[in-house]
Amino acid sequence: MTLREEIIGELIKGKISSPRLEADIILKAVAPDYPQMTSQEEQKAREYLHRRLAHEPLDKIIGQKEFYKFVFKVNQNVLSPRPDTEILVEKALELLPQNKPFRILDLGTGSGCILLSLLKEREQANGVGVDVSEKALEVAQENAENLGVKARTMFVNKSWQEKGFVTGLFDMIVSNPPYISSAEIKTLDEEVKTYDPKSALDGGKDGLKCYRDIAEIIFPLLQDGGYILLEVGYNQARDVADIFTKKQLKLIEIAQDLSGIERCVILKKSVAK
Ligand code: GLN
Repeated sequence: MTLREEIIGELIKGKISSPRLEADIILKAVAPDYPQMTSQEEQKAREYLHRRLAHEPLDKIIGQKEFYKFVFKVNQNVLSPRPDTEILVEKALELLPQNKPFRILDLGTGSGCILLSLLKEREQANGVGVDVSEKALEVAQENAENLGVKARTMFVNKSWQEKGFVTGLFDMIVSNPPYISSAEIKTLDEEVKTYDPKSALDGGKDGLKCYRDIAEIIFPLLQDGGYILLEVGYNQARDVADIFTKKQLKLIEIAQDLSGIERCVILKKSVAK
């Protein structure tokens, strides 16, 4: 039996949902020339298999995750990028024509996946990524470097609650804040609950705390005509839209993710002249 067959067999026994795909990802991560591999690489593959059988998510084990068109470094200090978030990137790009020097602010940047994807796709844009977690920003820095957008990115290790945490005006603000209600956290999958940072998930009693906080601070940071794009959780889109329209922002669109769930709320600052 080859190592690949052995890993697949174990993953099937462990009821891991895509055993063949995951076996290939493990083998590619440890031994790019598989079936040629050293004994150290084989040992590493077995270690990865055991971590996977203990339900550690595969991306956290191999330390990277594909998101949108790019590969991002991830670890236990950042929320792993989700395919659901790609709609926010797509919608943002529709609003950012090529060859203009946009300034983008990402609140709670984490791995940097949203901001850095936008900067990668818009060569004249520059951006600021804010996060309270210094350890998350270390990952984001590395991702900025790997994607070649470091010179156009600034990271700020502050809370958006802090007065003057960032200065200047932005053409676009994006955010995928923590939005799971505190009570719901306990019911999440083991893989999310144990391996994604709780601080990236917990949105307070009703899950909407961060949206209220953000709504308090963004108006003066946004250019007139600028946009804000927010990821929201299941069934939160209307409430989030209400929170922001009460702060003089205009609702432009609520976009659905690939599963047809309302996932991205898009608003605009337009000051009546
Ligand atoms: N989408 C993530 C999840 O379902 C939550 C992300 C967040 O709270 N921003 O686990």
